[in-house]
Amino acid sequence: MRRYKLNKEEINEVLKILGSLYPDAKSELDYSNPFELLIATILSAQCTDVRVNQVTKSLFPKYSDPYKMEELNVKELGEIIHSCGFYHTKASNILKTCKILIEEHKGKVPSNREELVKLPGVGRKTANVVISNVFDQDAIAVDTHVFRVTNRLGIVKADNVEDTEQELMKKIPKPMWSEAHHWFILHGRRVCKARKPLCDMCEVNHLCIMYRKSGLQKI
Ligand code: SF4
Repeated sequence: MRRYKLNKEEINEVLKILGSLYPDAKSELDYSNPFELLIATILSAQCTDVRVNQVTKSLFPKYSDPYKMEELNVKELGEIIHSCGFYHTKASNILKTCKILIEEHKGKVPSNREELVKLPGVGRKTANVVISNVFDQDAIAVDTHVFRVTNRLGIVKADNVEDTEQELMKKIPKPMWSEAHHWFILHGRRVCKARKPLCDMCEVNHLCIMYRKSGLQKI
């Protein structure tokens, strides 16, 4: 009989290996305060971190808080962030977010998820990125890499990012949530790539359900 999910010991082994492979894993977005991380994360939707960093390199020195950013109009901001894609929607959401931060939060980024997800352009994933990276709260931000890697490995078996997050929170010890999220992202970018995963050189292939199901190693 075949199993389709990893057991607790196997999950712990995966986490141990990934932790040793990516000991310094952290966000690859450049930022120097919570506001910059929030804006960079909004910009990163459907865009690479490398591209976002190129854009924010010129954006943040001039507009590093909501008061300064709000001086721009949608057209002006859209021109600056153009290369990130969906620039009109992102510019509009960012400026609406700045207005709310100024009017309701004294220009600060709220530190709780409930308030963050009320901001335009901010979903649960973005909120989790912010609270885990700058407010030291335990959270697992499930993006396309985390979704793909954890489902392929067999840590979870879920159809969408919401269910993946819920399953991961049950399977992974809470103090590891933030770190593990970075490990899965890096593993997804470097090894467990979307189109052509590099399974033969993957350090956790002996545990991976997808790899084992492929027939290379029976389970
Ligand atoms: S063995 Fe392949 S599918 Fe499994 S985690 Fe590694 S790269 Fe991804």
